[in-house]
Amino acid sequence: MNHFDYKDDALWCEGVSLTALAEAVGTPFYVYSSATLERHYRVFREALDHFPRLGGPLIAYAVKANSNLSVLATLGRLGAGADTVSEGEIRRALAAGIPAARIVYSGVGKTAAELAFALKVGVDQINVESEPELALLSTLAGEHGARPGVVIRVNPDVGAGGHAKISTGTRESKFGVSLAEAERLYALAAGDRHIKALGVGCHIGSQITDMAPLSRAFGLMRGLVERLRGKGLSIERLDLGGGLGVPYFNQPDPPTPADFAAMADAAVGGLNVELAFEPGRVIAANAGVLVARVIHVHQRPEGRRFLVLDAAMNDLIRPAMYDAYHDIRPVAPRSGPLEPYDVVGPVCETGDTFTRDRLLPPLESGDLVAFMSAGAYGAVMSSEYNTRPLIPEVLVKGDDWAVVRPRPSYQAMLSREPAAPWLSSSFTAAT
Ligand SMILES: *Cc1c(COP(=O)(O)O)cnc(C)c1O
Repeated sequence: MNHFDYKDDALWCEGVSLTALAEAVGTPFYVYSSATLERHYRVFREALDHFPRLGGPLIAYAVKANSNLSVLATLGRLGAGADTVSEGEIRRALAAGIPAARIVYSGVGKTAAELAFALKVGVDQINVESEPELALLSTLAGEHGARPGVVIRVNPDVGAGGHAKISTGTRESKFGVSLAEAERLYALAAGDRHIKALGVGCHIGSQITDMAPLSRAFGLMRGLVERLRGKGLSIERLDLGGGLGVPYFNQPDPPTPADFAAMADAAVGGLNVELAFEPGRVIAANAGVLVARVIHVHQRPEGRRFLVLDAAMNDLIRPAMYDAYHDIRPVAPRSGPLEPYDVVGPVCETGDTFTRDRLLPPLESGDLVAFMSAGAYGAVMSSEYNTRPLIPEVLVKGDDWAVVRPRPSYQAMLSREPAAPWLSSSFTAAT
């Protein structure tokens, strides 16, 4: 469920008309619903709380899905933690008021500088993904007089997820260590006086709509916890990652957080560990849309009909990168027979095609369209390719809204690139 609905002949986000918002901030832009973000977090939290054997787990929102500071603060106020994958994301989470005690730091390639920063601010849990990383962390912890909580990231060799590029749990992928290797590494960590060995974790992929691989992976993790305990090692924490899929409208309804919680309870309930979850997409995807304006409708006399928008692949790369599907809706409903459109942006590559042969009502130059379910892996993956300014992000709460990342001016963009001294005489003042 989300808070984007038609009323008075336009699409609204909560109490704000997207037509009015487009007038106020200009297109294209992202808009997020506070009510949907809050609802998704609460539904996830309550689903897990419903199974007491899962024991009020840490829900560390995966910051990379949508890392806008106001989005983070919205979730942080409800008690969410943060799953981070870089120093920048740790800084964002802290800046948005999420305490270090609720921050998890993951990733295959944390640099020494990033790890030192994590130690300095005291993040609660560092997910270690390889033996060299464990060695580096131990050395740094010794130097800093810190004793970080460590979870060994396991790659259980279970494939899952909506696309090869976002499947992370097979042995061919770069993430984590095998189950056997995890036993050895965990014993190493437990014997290291600079490290507080907390437990083990996994994250097998994203946009997962089938519970079977998750259940298999969780079962393997349970077995690992039991084997480690059998060796006399203590395990306090089991981090089960994120990955739950969302409906992008062309698929049958994916499992709900309640289905997910029931599966988790069956797989790991009663294990007597603190659980951690790292949901990203399921919290943010349907809480945001991208609004764009139609520049032209270009009907080729010999065939294809192009809907040329002012938004492009640099603003929303999921279709180009993952062949992702986004529902596209006219902001003001249009009547008339559905016709096939190739929906494209202005960027100079054929890859800048959001979709082909999409059936849409008749649209005209100047119309607004909304890409639904664009709140996760949307703005965060945008770039200035083709020197297109990063588009604004707007957060709505009830009848209120705020620009939470403004569109930069061209001058601001160009002034980020100082002239090489020997070229400065060629530069003119930016206009
Ligand atoms: C991306 C990621 C997540 C979140 O995945 P979603 O599919 O958005 O829920 C969680 N944990 C880790 C380690 C990740 O890299």
